[in-house]
Amino acid sequence: MSKRDYYDVLGVARGASAEEVKKAYRKMAIKYHPDKNPGDKEAEESFKEAAEAYEVLSSPEKRQRYDQFGHSANAGSAAGGYGGGGMDMNDIFSQFGDIFGGGGGSPFEGFFGGGGGRQGGGRRVARGTNLRIKVKLTLEEIANGTEKKIKVNKQIVCKTCDGSGAKDKASFQTCKTCGGQGSVRRVTNTILGQMQTTSTCPTCNGEGTQITNKCTSCHGDGIVRGEETITINIPAGVSEGMQLSMSGKGNAAPRGGVPGDLIILIEETLHETLKRDGHNVIYDMHISFIDAALGTSVEVPTIDGKAKIKIEPGTQGGRILRLKGKGVPEVNSYNRGDQLVHVNIWTPKALNREEREILEKLQDSPNFKPNPGKNEKSFFERMKEYFE
Ligand SMILES: [Zn+2]
Ligand SMILES: [Zn+2]
Repeated sequence: MSKRDYYDVLGVARGASAEEVKKAYRKMAIKYHPDKNPGDKEAEESFKEAAEAYEVLSSPEKRQRYDQFGHSANAGSAAGGYGGGGMDMNDIFSQFGDIFGGGGGSPFEGFFGGGGGRQGGGRRVARGTNLRIKVKLTLEEIANGTEKKIKVNKQIVCKTCDGSGAKDKASFQTCKTCGGQGSVRRVTNTILGQMQTTSTCPTCNGEGTQITNKCTSCHGDGIVRGEETITINIPAGVSEGMQLSMSGKGNAAPRGGVPGDLIILIEETLHETLKRDGHNVIYDMHISFIDAALGTSVEVPTIDGKAKIKIEPGTQGGRILRLKGKGVPEVNSYNRGDQLVHVNIWTPKALNREEREILEKLQDSPNFKPNPGKNEKSFFERMKEYFE
């Protein structure tokens, strides 16, 4: 299901300030408010769409995640699960305190008849709860992105009654109190004239239907405990503690409501030899001082397999060699970090007699005396090199 871009929905630029977002939403909410457009389905959809966009763009955290991952990645919010059925009207109206609060000329006082809260707006749709799972990823999986098939234990739609909760069609009846509306209407007088207010139907609790004979498999809930194998696409570049969200993949909701979201918490498993540092990957390489003096070529592990690197004759310990683009990509970007190879010179800890004699012969040779000239990089220069 394709969704409209939240910025397009509110008609603001990507870089819009919080105040601009709020202003744009306020305009939309007034224009499409159900009390202003009774029975207009299109207006209701626009109203909900705007509420969802505002829910995400008004939260710095959600907005940042949305900018990064798009619609797939808004975790744990009412908006996240918008998937099919729609944001609960109560959720939307509870948002208004934030937008129109502060009294004094609030445009909604007119709608609410003196700033009072609104009770229920049409049929109440049950929401399934969000489900949280942890996914462990190797460094290679993080670097390349991966697809995980995970068996999840959760509330699923009851197959016996197809989620209705009723034993058969005849047991599933339209609520007599509200005629299936889920709400009852009342006309009240306000300073602005007669206003129609609605409240949740007490008989059916807003669902609009009543069940006379319950399904025996789910006892009328429409949901049962079960297993589902879910395929999760994990983009390259995620990191420990990051949360991804799959809209509508959480617990099923009672009697055909909107399912919750599946929240995926990313965990990293430690790599045997490589260490991640942001987008870079660090490898500690040890070479003998003979190889460092004579020069050689060494194979080092990278996240894409082995890579050969050349050790120039006279290489000093502490150098950092950079393998461009061998790091971890940024999420939703073509940028990739580097692999940084730290050169450590291995000093032999034990020597046999022959080795000792050879080294003793070399000990006083002027070439073996440390002589860091001006061309040798200092520790601080190397650190600078590392961080840039
Ligand atoms: Zn059932
Ligand atoms: Zn009812």
